[in-house]
Amino acid sequence: MDVLISGASMAGLSAAHWFARLGHRVTVVERADGLRPGGAPIDVRGRALATARRMGILARIDDEKVRFFDPAPVLDGTGAQVATLDLRWFANETDEDVEITRDRLNRILMSAIPDGVEFRFKASIASIADGAGGVEVGFADGSQGRYDLVVGADGLHSNVRRLAFGPEKEYVRHFGHYVALVDLPADRHWHRAMLSVPGLTIAVRDAGDGPQGLMLAASPEIGYDYRDLDAQRALIDRLLSRVDAWQVPAMRAAFADPAAKGFYFDSVSQTHMPSWIRGNVAVIGDAGHCAALLSGMGTTLAMVSAEILANTWTEHGGRMEAASAAYHAQLRPYVAQCQAFAAEGAPIMVPPTQEALEERNAMFRAYAARFAETGA
Ligand SMILES: Cc1cc2nc3c(=O)[nH]c(=O)nc-3n(C[C@H](O)[C@H](O)[C@H](O)COP(=O)(O)OP(=O)(O)OC[C@H]3O[C@@H](n4cnc5c(N)ncnc54)[C@H](O)[C@@H]3O)c2cc1C
Repeated sequence: MDVLISGASMAGLSAAHWFARLGHRVTVVERADGLRPGGAPIDVRGRALATARRMGILARIDDEKVRFFDPAPVLDGTGAQVATLDLRWFANETDEDVEITRDRLNRILMSAIPDGVEFRFKASIASIADGAGGVEVGFADGSQGRYDLVVGADGLHSNVRRLAFGPEKEYVRHFGHYVALVDLPADRHWHRAMLSVPGLTIAVRDAGDGPQGLMLAASPEIGYDYRDLDAQRALIDRLLSRVDAWQVPAMRAAFADPAAKGFYFDSVSQTHMPSWIRGNVAVIGDAGHCAALLSGMGTTLAMVSAEILANTWTEHGGRMEAASAAYHAQLRPYVAQCQAFAAEGAPIMVPPTQEALEERNAMFRAYAARFAETGA
């Protein structure tokens, strides 16, 4: 049968693997001109580890994972060190959980795509008409095609979700934060550390592929065109303007540079949908059930949902409505569990008040003392 997937990232590449492996003809359309680079290290955890094992890529993911960083200083708004952060203190779901850069995982997923999958970059779906004979799809370049299933794996601002299920505001809930990332230029030395003031965390990280700047800012929803990069840069600059210490002025310059590599900005949001299936159209990954960056579960859910969708659809003879109950039963409880993690991550990553910030830093200091004493 013919399957069209919109989006070539974690969810779309995983879906292409599974549908092709189960014998279907797969076409992937991706708006960018290749796999979109950038992003901080992401987690492959819980049920995604078994999915990765079945995809035959777990060993490679493990080989290329981020090795634990040395402890990093935690700074206050003046740049003075107030605590230390060692990521080993934060227990994972299982001992096997891995953290890997987004670019490396993208490449590994791409290498696991069976022969015969057609990729169309700089391409996008313009219209979807679902009927008895399948889904008639019009593409942005004017071409058309007919598919038995259309899978929206096109992220938080999903195009397929908008075309088949309705406007974004019905499904996407702002989780109170914005995130920005950028590769930092090599013209100076960057000190790895994390600086927090209430509602704002700014960090320099290096996962082995060069220093990267991160901003996590608490903010009510801001109206802007999420495709307008100049508007994004202006917003970041405004959010960072609260701090003038440490390396923040240099980071502001890096974020403001239109030529900077690895630039990424988005709201930290969740997608909540009563059903991820409508007729012969399904949405997976962030498009259907974004758990918000603060959960650390987005990639896991993207990989797991792709596998379950391909299996249930194939088992039900390509009848999506028939597969729907089994699909939701296998995925819904896990999505709820993963989305709940975001509420736990927020006060640690971006404490909202001075009191919460001091509490968090005291917790880091207590962990450091215990670790120094017992090594655990
Ligand atoms: C550049 C980038 C950096 C990221 N950095 C981080 C990070 O640091 N930490 C983190 O937790 N998460 C990050 N994410 C999000 C993370 O990848 C996802 O939360 C998670 O992996 C789920 O993946 P997904 O495939 O559902 O969505 P995404 O990874 O968002 O992928 C969606 C894909 O769909 C494509 N697309 C969008 N619209 C269209 C369209 N109209 N037609 C065709 N294709 C389209 C996009 O170009 C993208 O390739 C980042 C995403 C991107 C795109």
